[in-house]
Amino acid sequence: MTSATRSTEEVPVLIVGGSLVGLTTALLLARHGVKALAVERHSGTAIHPRAGHFQIRTIEILREMGLEDEGRRKARETYDPEGGIIAVESLAGKEVARFIPNLNVGVDHRSPTGRLFVDQDVLEPMLRRAAEQLGARLTYRTEMTSFEQDAERVRAVIRDLDSGAEREIVARYMVAADGNRSRVRRALGIEMQGYGLLSKSVTLYFEADCAPYLQGRNSGVFYVHNPTLRGFFRLNLAGQRGFLAINVVGADVTRDEAVNVSQGMTEERALELLRAAIGVPGLPMKVRQIVPWDAEANVAAHFSDGRVFLAGDAAHVVPPNGGFGGNTGVQDAHNLAWKLAMVVNGQAGPELLETYDDERRPIGAFTVDQAYGRYATRVVPERGKDNVKPIVDDLLIEIGYRYRSSAVIGGSANDPLVEHPDKLKAAPGTRAPHVVLERDGAAISTLDLFGEHFVLLTGPNGGAWRAAADEAASALGVPIDVWQVGGERGLRDVDGRFLEAYALGPAGAVLVRPDSFVAWRAGDSRADGRALGRAIASILSRGGA
Ligand SMILES: Cc1cc2nc3c(=O)[nH]c(=O)nc-3n(C[C@H](O)[C@H](O)[C@H](O)COP(=O)(O)OP(=O)(O)OC[C@H]3O[C@@H](n4cnc5c(N)ncnc54)[C@H](O)[C@@H]3O)c2cc1C
Repeated sequence: MTSATRSTEEVPVLIVGGSLVGLTTALLLARHGVKALAVERHSGTAIHPRAGHFQIRTIEILREMGLEDEGRRKARETYDPEGGIIAVESLAGKEVARFIPNLNVGVDHRSPTGRLFVDQDVLEPMLRRAAEQLGARLTYRTEMTSFEQDAERVRAVIRDLDSGAEREIVARYMVAADGNRSRVRRALGIEMQGYGLLSKSVTLYFEADCAPYLQGRNSGVFYVHNPTLRGFFRLNLAGQRGFLAINVVGADVTRDEAVNVSQGMTEERALELLRAAIGVPGLPMKVRQIVPWDAEANVAAHFSDGRVFLAGDAAHVVPPNGGFGGNTGVQDAHNLAWKLAMVVNGQAGPELLETYDDERRPIGAFTVDQAYGRYATRVVPERGKDNVKPIVDDLLIEIGYRYRSSAVIGGSANDPLVEHPDKLKAAPGTRAPHVVLERDGAAISTLDLFGEHFVLLTGPNGGAWRAAADEAASALGVPIDVWQVGGERGLRDVDGRFLEAYALGPAGAVLVRPDSFVAWRAGDSRADGRALGRAIASILSRGGA
């Protein structure tokens, strides 16, 4: 078909890829009133479980999207949603390490929710349904085949894989959520940097009666380490089916063949490896599917180019150890969606979009280091720790990171990229802390106040900030929600923690962005609508506004 006969459609945002990150982006944009078009070459949502370990921050985002309860309910049908992570010689054999006794160790008062074991193929249909309900368009069996961009627009060609018909999509912006082999990233010439290819791994999906060998252990992930193979199991509650991901075969990890697991993989070999991992020779079982994949640890040199943004595995790819890949991608989408929406809706200058790379790339690179460290120490410890960065607690990776960009006012360039969340105290660029409040007789979290607009939180004596916020909102044409905490007119501070958790004086205020990150603070100063307006104008790159 020639370009002359192609139909053309204009959309605000084109999303390439309709898996975990593409769907999340489509849903979040729709919640901000931007109806994007997502194209996905597969015929539907994920058919394999893949991601199963979801972090605190990701579940907080699910909660914001109204999907937490359903996700938890569905998780319970498959897993112990809070199982631990242990290492064994084989399921029937000796336990050698307990990495995490329970998935939610350490979460405590720090979040209204917690980590969850739930499969990606369970979450994706939920995201799809919610996105479509809000007006996002998702087209399957459709491939983006080429694109170009200029100062005004991105023009992409998409092809219906059944009919072969092509259409031109003209979009203001494009999000590449097209996975680790990202065609978009390659076309833009953006390099991947990091640790390279770690192994040619395989995942074996199977059915077998493993229940007798679980010995009542509630583990969500069983690492297996024995002379035949190294990898990890995820098994359903009943211990009847699941998958084994294998990263190494044989005992000598210095040999290249050891990490080329997928070479020569047959059903017979798969059965042999599964039995070695379960530790029961001759165990009856059925191999459902053998899926090869590359374990890599790399981050893109840029997360954006002009009007195109990389998100998810297109921007960073990690080995599954630690369960970071999908989580980091969901958090990319959450950072990007409100910015794109405010620019598309004319509330922010396009420079706001530059902060996506400034904020997310350091976190992507840090996460790659952490995932590599877990791979190196849990899977191939004999290779030594030469290029392994110090491993930090999951809590810091999930809710302890800090953004530095022009969309954050205050803080210093020397502030650490990650810190223990208890130390952050609503510092600029960090996730606003969870505190239990009471609204209309119901317990809520501070985090339940965020997601849609900028939010100004004030202390019990901060009533004057209401008028100040009204002044700033009407000057800028940007809604600002104001919540006073404590005092006669404020939300009840159930545990009396608010001022301490936010390091605020009773008349102070904290400005929180729609992604729940702190943008600006007025620790204990008088309400000042002009100062607030100037801060928001600067965050939104509004030039002289
Ligand atoms: C065994 C295993 C276990 C894992 N466990 C975890 C875990 O516990 N926790 C975790 O967070 N992560 C985990 N991950 C990683 C997680 O699955 C990925 O990080 C996640 O799927 C990335 O999502 P994505 O949307 O960025 O990319 P993908 O899921 O790769 O999706 C990209 C999509 O884009 C589509 N596409 C590509 N090009 C085009 C095009 N030109 N036109 C149209 N469509 C296109 C593809 O068909 C694909 O559906 C695991 C991965 C594996 C393999």
